[in-house]
Amino acid sequence: MDGKGLGPFRLAPWFSPRPWGRKDLRPWYAATGTAEPVGEAWLTGPQCVVETGAMAGQALATVTAEAGEALLGAPDQIGAPEFPLLVKLLFPNDKLSVQVHPDDAHAQAMGQPRGKTECWYVLEAKPGATIALGLREGATADGVRAAIAAGTLEELLQWVPVQAGDMVFVDAGTVHAIGPGVVFLETQQTCDITFRMYDYGRPRELHVEQALQVMKLETAAGKVKPVAMDGFVRLIAQKYFVVDRYKLDARRAVVIPIAEAGCLVGLCGSGLVECSGAAPVELLRGRAVVTPASAGEVVVRSNAGASFVRCFAPGS
Ligand SMILES: [Zn+2]
Repeated sequence: MDGKGLGPFRLAPWFSPRPWGRKDLRPWYAATGTAEPVGEAWLTGPQCVVETGAMAGQALATVTAEAGEALLGAPDQIGAPEFPLLVKLLFPNDKLSVQVHPDDAHAQAMGQPRGKTECWYVLEAKPGATIALGLREGATADGVRAAIAAGTLEELLQWVPVQAGDMVFVDAGTVHAIGPGVVFLETQQTCDITFRMYDYGRPRELHVEQALQVMKLETAAGKVKPVAMDGFVRLIAQKYFVVDRYKLDARRAVVIPIAEAGCLVGLCGSGLVECSGAAPVELLRGRAVVTPASAGEVVVRSNAGASFVRCFAPGS
């Protein structure tokens, strides 16, 4: 494949069982293919399988290897080409561990291509749902170490209430935790390094020393105000990712210029993603349609109305 004419394609989600997850993911997914509780649906993971077009049946990693430039543009790659953004839906039914991710410099010192800055778009939140976002003012590394040992780390965290529609920025180095009763769309740098600091007594491994090395006492994490643009709402625009939200009324279409690697994720309703020279792809709830950097522009059309987000990696 020379990559020319690589049109948008849809990926099947990959479900990750987690002890803090849910068995029933409706209305997002009718079935997960496992009896285990599922915590994460990976929408753009390397193992996600293409379900439309000529590449149907191939994993995203294979498409990236074979059509890297058309898909990704010409980014300054470190290591093998990789789709830059990992987009997931999170379904916590219990508290997630208190954790932290490395930044690029720390990750690269560990031989990984990039760190993990992430953001969460809150799709559903029960009343009273909270997240932990960073350390309280005045916290010190020694204080954090002592609180981990004493099982009181939660008291050193800043707990923030969330509701549907919130966008939360979580830069690498921010100590964080997610409580139950929310559904998040997470957009993150493609990186799977998590250092668990406290797990409420669950028997999973902790990585306290690594966590203390990459943790930052102050970070830029917090809620981000949406910005109304021409025909969409910009939820966040950061160094690693931009997330835009679109709402289409029935029998409407929107033209979206595409110059970077990214994807569209259906949130509600359905639509068709059209791109010149390629077969249209149906946009479905909870699934990503990858928009290659070479696409130029896509038109999203909906008969009955649809809402969706576009996530892309600026500079890709
Ligand atoms: Zn995280």
